[in-house]
Amino acid sequence: MLAAADHRQIGQKLDLFHFQEAAPGMVFWHPRGFFALTELRNALARVAEADGFEQVQTPQILRQEVWEMSGHVQHYRDGMFAVGDEDCQAFVKPVSCPGHLEIFRRRAASYRDLPLRLAEFGLVHRGEPSGTLHGLFRLRQFTQDDGHVFCAEDQVESEVSRFCRSLRKCYSRLGFERVKVAFATRPAERAGSDASWDAAERMLASAARAASLSPEHAPGAGAFYGPKLEFSLEDHGGRSWQCGTIQLDLVLPERFDVSYMAASGRKSRPAMLHRAVLGSLERFLGILLEQSTLRLPPWLNQEQARLLPVAESELPLANEILAQLRSAGVRARLAVGPESLARRVRDAHADGVPFLFLLGQRELNARAVTLRAAGAERLVPIERAVEEVRDACAAPC
Ligand SMILES: [Zn+2]
Repeated sequence: MLAAADHRQIGQKLDLFHFQEAAPGMVFWHPRGFFALTELRNALARVAEADGFEQVQTPQILRQEVWEMSGHVQHYRDGMFAVGDEDCQAFVKPVSCPGHLEIFRRRAASYRDLPLRLAEFGLVHRGEPSGTLHGLFRLRQFTQDDGHVFCAEDQVESEVSRFCRSLRKCYSRLGFERVKVAFATRPAERAGSDASWDAAERMLASAARAASLSPEHAPGAGAFYGPKLEFSLEDHGGRSWQCGTIQLDLVLPERFDVSYMAASGRKSRPAMLHRAVLGSLERFLGILLEQSTLRLPPWLNQEQARLLPVAESELPLANEILAQLRSAGVRARLAVGPESLARRVRDAHADGVPFLFLLGQRELNARAVTLRAAGAERLVPIERAVEEVRDACAAPC
C-alpha cells in the first residue's frame, strides 16, 4: 500500500500513464489510462448532447492575427507556444474560442439560430512554468471539455441556469456533492470598455441569482474578456478543486465582429458564454484516482470483471457467466491457465480489475460465485452477482 494517495504513483502502479523529461507537463497515456480518459470523454459528450450542444473540432494552430483579434497576444502571450517563422507567425491554441467564433460567423445568421451551442474536446497547450507542473493536476497539454453558447442577451439568464442545473447533476453523479461557487469580476488587465463590463457583470450576477446560487465574491479574478462563475469540488480529504466555469463575454463577439439578424430586423451582437464542466479531463482523472483510494472507479476500467475458474470442470459455467456479464454491458474476461488460483488473483489485483468471480466445486454445486471486490469475499447466486456488478460498473452519466 502507498502511504498517501498520490495519483502519479497510482498511475505507474496500474500502468495508466507516465511522464518523462522529453515532454514536461505532457502525458504518455498507456492503453488502460487512455481507455479511462476516453470513457470520461464519452460520458461528458453525452452530458453536452443532453444539454443541446453539438460537437465540433477546430484547428490546433492558428495564425497570429487571430490571437491578436481575440486579445490573447496582448493578454496571454506568455501562456502560448509559438510556431512558424518571421513571415508567418502562429500559435498552438490555449483555448478553442476563436475557432468557435469562426463557426458561428458562418452558421448563425438569424435569431432563429440562437442559442447556438458548440462543444469541443479541445487539446490545448499552455506554457505553464516548469516549477508549477504537478502530475495530471497541472499540465502543459490537456483536454478541455470546452463549449460556447452564442445567444441573445435576453437568453443569458436561462442559459446560465440550464448550465448550473446540469453541472450539479453531473458532479453529484460523479460522486461530488459539495460544490462551492465564486463570482469572479473584472481583472486589472482586461479587454473591453467599462460600460460593457458593467453590463456583463450585472447580467451574470442576475443569472446567478436566477439559478439560486449564492457565490462568494472573487474581485479581479475574471477572464480578460469577461466575468465568470467558478465551481469548485470538495474531495473526501476536504481539498477543493476548481473545475467548472461559465463566463459571460461581450468582448470577443465585438472584436471578431460577429452578428445575427434580430427579430426586429436589426443587426445585433450575440452574447457569448464560455463553459466547461470539468475544465481538464486529465486533471479530473487525477482527482478521481486520489479520491477513490488507489484505483480507478469501476466504470473507467478497461477490464471490469475477471472470471477465475479453479479447474477445467468449472470452465463451462465460467463461460456461461462470461456471456451473461458481457450481454449486461460489463467488460469481462476469463483467466484460465497453468498458474495457481492464488497467483491469478494476485495478477488480477495488480491489473486493477475491480471484480473477481472465483469458481470452484462449491460454487458449481450451488450455482453461485465467490465475488471478490474491495478486499472482501462472499458467496453470491450467479444472477445476483451479475446484476450487482452491472450496476456498479455502469457509467454515471
Ligand atoms: Zn472560450
